[in-house]
Amino acid sequence: MKSTAQSMNGPSPLHVDGLNQTFDGLEPVFGLQRLFNTYAAEDILITTSFGTKSIYLLYLLNQVAPGHPVYFIDTGFHFAETLSYRDSLIRRLGLNIITIDPHPEEHALTKEESWWIEHPKMCCAINKIAPLQPYIDRHKVWVSSLMAYQNEYRANLRLFEQQGDILKYHPLLQVSEESFNTILDELDLPIHPLFYLGYESIGCMHCTQPGKGREGRWAGKTKTECGLHLKYFTKHEHA
Ligand code: SF4
Repeated sequence: MKSTAQSMNGPSPLHVDGLNQTFDGLEPVFGLQRLFNTYAAEDILITTSFGTKSIYLLYLLNQVAPGHPVYFIDTGFHFAETLSYRDSLIRRLGLNIITIDPHPEEHALTKEESWWIEHPKMCCAINKIAPLQPYIDRHKVWVSSLMAYQNEYRANLRLFEQQGDILKYHPLLQVSEESFNTILDELDLPIHPLFYLGYESIGCMHCTQPGKGREGRWAGKTKTECGLHLKYFTKHEHA
């Protein structure tokens, strides 16, 4: 029987510890399978940015739960190459993509005043975080493809982490960079076209430069994450 053993404020720390123990050491595909056996499908949120690291999770999802909705936040600032990569993956994997848009007037303001230059945190809040909030509220667990090798913040994550009101699950956390590249090669999965131009991590065009790892993201700023994977989604913090 599927368990949705969560209180109004999310699972208890003991429950999160139990999930970490139960899922420890599972190959990503088996971890994802177990997640779908543990939670009702409608409680599981999958998002993607169609960046250089997105394809493996999308491939695994297609193995475990084909047709499961995948949400894509269209910030309006994506590279044309990202949008064409998105379209090619939809065709290749038969993905069920649901696009989330920011509030049009608020988005227009960030665009007219180039908020990514002086106010990147607010720009991400309007174009990424606020649009996703209703979807966070409707789900219990959110699967992301963060990998520990990518930066210090990610290296300190556990498989399951409570992030405000939602439980995060990182099935790829222990996948090394070398394994990731080998897997893509072996599965013959398509790679983001900008990767070949030196972009190893890709987000909005205003905040992405070519670079190793994530060094091309918000280059020259202290910002290293857009905020989606930090502790934004807490109802009391937004109250
Ligand atoms: S990544 Fe840059 S352009 Fe995109 S929402 Fe954040 S600050 Fe704005």
